Amino acid sequence: MPATTLQNVISRYWGYTSFRPLQREAMDAVLAGRDSIVVLPTGGGKSLCFQAPAVVQDGVALIVSPLISLMKDQVDTLVGNGVPAALYNSSLSSSEKAGVSAGLKEGRYRLLYVSPERLVGEGSESFISMLSGCRVSFVAIDEAHCISQWGHDFRPEYRQLGRLRDLLPGVALHAYTATATARVRRDISTQLGLSDPVEFVGSFDRPNLLYRSIPRNTLKKQLVEVLERHRGEAGIIYCISRREVDALAAWLTGTGVTALPYHAGLSDEERSRHQDAFLSERADVIVATVAFGMGIDRSDVRFVVHAGAPRSLEHYQQESGRAGRDGLEAECLLIYSSADFMKWRIMLERNGELTEAAQALLRQMERYAAGVGCRHRHLSEYFGDRYVKEGCAGCDYCLNELEPSKDPVPLARKILSCVARVGQRFGATHVASVLRGHASDQVVARGHAGLSTFGLLPEASVAEIRGYVEQLTALGLLLQTGDAYPVLQLTNRGLDLLKDAASFPGLRLARQRPPRKDAPRTRSRVEAESWLDVDRDLFDRLRSVRLDIARSRGVPPYVIFHDATLREMARVRPDSIDALLQVRGVGARKAEDLGDVFLAAIREH
Ligand code: ADP
Repeated sequence: MPATTLQNVISRYWGYTSFRPLQREAMDAVLAGRDSIVVLPTGGGKSLCFQAPAVVQDGVALIVSPLISLMKDQVDTLVGNGVPAALYNSSLSSSEKAGVSAGLKEGRYRLLYVSPERLVGEGSESFISMLSGCRVSFVAIDEAHCISQWGHDFRPEYRQLGRLRDLLPGVALHAYTATATARVRRDISTQLGLSDPVEFVGSFDRPNLLYRSIPRNTLKKQLVEVLERHRGEAGIIYCISRREVDALAAWLTGTGVTALPYHAGLSDEERSRHQDAFLSERADVIVATVAFGMGIDRSDVRFVVHAGAPRSLEHYQQESGRAGRDGLEAECLLIYSSADFMKWRIMLERNGELTEAAQALLRQMERYAAGVGCRHRHLSEYFGDRYVKEGCAGCDYCLNELEPSKDPVPLARKILSCVARVGQRFGATHVASVLRGHASDQVVARGHAGLSTFGLLPEASVAEIRGYVEQLTALGLLLQTGDAYPVLQLTNRGLDLLKDAASFPGLRLARQRPPRKDAPRTRSRVEAESWLDVDRDLFDRLRSVRLDIARSRGVPPYVIFHDATLREMARVRPDSIDALLQVRGVGARKAEDLGDVFLAAIREH
């Protein structure tokens, strides 16, 4: 029986025609009353896993969520879809609290979102006693990795959730997270006292994300290029330091992009104002520190740029994963330099956090950044998935933007030997000048124009050679020392390769081939498919209709309809309510509430 019921529920309330991978299984576990742990990547559709069963079951489901703003969005969306839901947290006035309390007594809600403090913190007795009169169907803990010190986002208030077992005896607990490591999973289970939980771990590959990684040379020029590919679209730019965030946000504003800074140095009030502006489409771009930015989730983020490398692939996955949560194409561009990794080492060292584990994570991040191979494969395998596809058509390598060198070993040896010849006392730019045979003042003054390595790579550009240097550094053949003026040195492995050409089997180097200039946008397969037959003008028109409605109702636009839904409307151009109901993302309530406005806009077009 539940199979058809769940199907009906997701179609009627959400307008969805099918389940995403593991959603059905996760929902069945809820309906069966088994404890469970569900690990799905960002955008994998975790919310529906507890929302749909909550609608099907009698009683009220408690949803524990760490951020007040996310709670509000989810509740607004649910109510917009016709699902009775409410939230209970410190943002409510006392009369609002009384209203929710009365609603609970009457059994009015299927879902109640609560903060962990409310449920298990100090003074939670009154809340628990308020629940005593009603039937709690289950408890869902969103962002459950916050309970684990091994996660990257530990929150002390989550620790208390272990008390739930005693406070709500006999009620099943379900944990949802996007953090995949087995250690975090075990920790979640122990901390919550789960009994024999069913575990579901989804695939971490996000085929709709287009991954690119380029060495940093002229950052602003590189940013202009990516912004041109995404004019008018939503994006996040991550920087390592607050200073860079402020500087970039100001510069972008000067170039006419609506960009706002977001970091821990701003007041709460400023941060929430900037977040609101981003969510309500008054700003297109948020510039944030890599250490910050949970809560700036907007489902139609079309690009995430890292203007500096994060400190681990876990962080990269989480941050870049904020792109394309609606399943449509999005670009994740990493602009890195070995200086970033040096910065992290210094910062971690200063805080006494430069453990062996932290260093290993940094090295893995560096290897990804400078890697020559399919990036979807790299990420999948790093997170313990097998990647069976040949050629993802969704990364710089598979799109042929990286041109592997035909003779990587001689190329590497030329560069290494030049580093040796200049006495391991110069940086990449100087080494590049010598290799290109460019007799700059500095090169001549140092007598380097007479070196045997002078002019060994006459055809290469400076950027190209710098790219190789980054790759050789990531592979552990070169070392870049010093802070302000990094100097290139050889590592033992580098020396070995100079002595013995066979010492590094499988060496790969590649040169960057910028996205083709003749194509207005370089597209992944996913992108090409998702625009197939879509009337772009109509899509833009529908977005502005949506924006007007959102403004008048004071909610973020994606609470009205997702981009994916608008794109499908602009593809099939429905001409009746029935036809509109066939569009994915249009449920009965939405069709009744908004159908006429959107149908009129389509007709007029
Ligand atoms: P997560 O919490 O795992 O990051 P969300 O629950 O926010 O992901 O879901 C991501 C997006 O996918 C949302 O826009 C949601 O509406 C959409 N979605 C979820 N499940 C389905 C489904 N079965 N069919 C279509 N869209 C879905």
